[in-house]
Order: sequence, then C-alpha cells, then structure tokens
Amino acid sequence: MRVAVLSESPVDEVVIRAFMDAILGQKTESIDLHVRTRGWPAICDVLPSIIKRLHWHDDAEGLVLCVDTNGSEIHRSEHDDIPHRDCRMCQLRTLTHEILVGLSPRPDRPTALGIAIGTAVPAIEAWLLCGVDSGVGESQWQQKKDQDAQSRGYVRTLKKTLYGTDHASQIERKRISLKAVERLSVGNFRTLEDKFPGGFGSL
Ligand SMILES: [Zn+2]
Repeated sequence: MRVAVLSESPVDEVVIRAFMDAILGQKTESIDLHVRTRGWPAICDVLPSIIKRLHWHDDAEGLVLCVDTNGSEIHRSEHDDIPHRDCRMCQLRTLTHEILVGLSPRPDRPTALGIAIGTAVPAIEAWLLCGVDSGVGESQWQQKKDQDAQSRGYVRTLKKTLYGTDHASQIERKRISLKAVERLSVGNFRTLEDKFPGGFGSL
C-alpha cells in the first residue's frame, strides 16, 4: 500500500507513518514528496500540487496530513457542521475537498485518493507524552490557553520533557518518538483517542 505522508518535519513524517502502520496493521510504502519547506502555512501552499501529483502520477492510495495546532482553535465535532475559520483541521478539510472536487476521476483506479488529516494539539510531542504526562490533552490545552500565561512556552516545555533537552538531534528525536508510538500502540491508541478526540480521533 503506497501512502504519502506530509507533516511539519521529516522526523514528524516518520512518526506519523509509524502511527499509521500500527493502526493499519501493515507496513505502508512511502512516496517521496520532494518537499523542502514545511510548517504552517507552507503545507497549505504545496498541498494543491502534491494532491494533483499523487492523483495523476503516483500509484498512491492515500495521503496522510498532520500538522501541529500551536495556538489555533482545537477541532470539535460541532465544526463538522460549521467549519471554524481558525481551526487547522477544518481549513485542511476545506482545502483538500476543494482540490479533490476539481479533479476528474483517475482512469486506472476505481477509487479516489484517500486523505486522512490529523492535528496535534498543540504539537506532536503532546501525543507522544500521552500516558506519561497527565497534563497533555485537548481539554488540558484549552484550559492553558484560557489562562494565557500557562500556554506561553508550553510547546518548548513539551519538547524538553519528551527529548530531555532543548537540542536533541534528529536521530535522537526519531528514536524517542518511535519508542513512544510503540508504547502507545500497546493500548491500541485508545488513551490518545480519549485525550485528543478532535485531532487524533479524527485522524
Ligand atoms: Zn475544526
């Protein structure tokens, strides 16, 4: 199964693929998207050309998109009826829908390109600390945001808690992150779904 992953860094993409392979119960084949600039809003800028390329030229079955929410709105079920303009999940859903409806069906494939979207609240390190740090979770983050002072520097704190340092190398970040995915997969990611219903549950 060939599935492309687009996220905010090469390490994040390895981590998202590990999540996906564990959820699907099979090892997916990656597709090099040749993306140099990542992060929000660069992902929105490159998305139309990536989707078109995957749709027409690559033997791709799916695309998984995952971004950090940082300070933006947390996705909620109410948004499924009325998308929120400051919610990255809603923005990516709207954008991908607009791109897909503009494409004619692929002649050689019965199904359209499948797209899965996740938003890590407020960053992927929070997912990876789930079950270890009781302070992570979408409602916990909302509380911190409401009490503005507590949210400042929080993403940096998360990174430091997970990697043990402010300056972890890519190799070290990857090693620690994949170990966390393995730990979370033991419980079938149920705790993650409970604590991150909008961003992980939707994915
Ligand atoms: Zn939303």
